[in-house]
Amino acid sequence: MSEIETLSPRAIRLREAGHKLTNARLTVLNVLENNGGHLTSAEVLDQVDKIDSSIGRASVFRTLDLLTSLSIIRPTYMNSSMTPTYVLMPDGHHHHIVCTNCNRIIEFENCGLGAIAAELEERLHVKLTGHLLEFYGLCDKCS
Ligand SMILES: [Zn+2]
Ligand SMILES: [Zn+2]
Ligand SMILES: [Zn+2]
Repeated sequence: MSEIETLSPRAIRLREAGHKLTNARLTVLNVLENNGGHLTSAEVLDQVDKIDSSIGRASVFRTLDLLTSLSIIRPTYMNSSMTPTYVLMPDGHHHHIVCTNCNRIIEFENCGLGAIAAELEERLHVKLTGHLLEFYGLCDKCS
């Protein structure tokens, strides 16, 4: 099994940013990817522990911080919880709608924010690397 074909695009990004692909880092990434990218830190800890109990809590938290600093994931604070929910940022975007009645989360792809991002970069002289867009409302079952 060659290393190349087993690496996810996010693991490759991690390596290209100059970080070693340690077992802890790959396991945390796998857990996030296999869950569609909506997990609290407690859920990440729990699932990593089931896969490899030799990975300590501290290295899971360090990995979450590292992935956040590389914009591979972002912490969000749903349901006024103090524990962040980490979401994956495929291609630097993540968009969803949260139903305020049943807490269902509906993901969607096309945000149409490219023009706004370009305008912000121009006007504020910033370089944007990604965005997280969260809408609130009622889902089809609740409305
Ligand atoms: Zn989402
Ligand atoms: Zn709902
Ligand atoms: Zn977007």
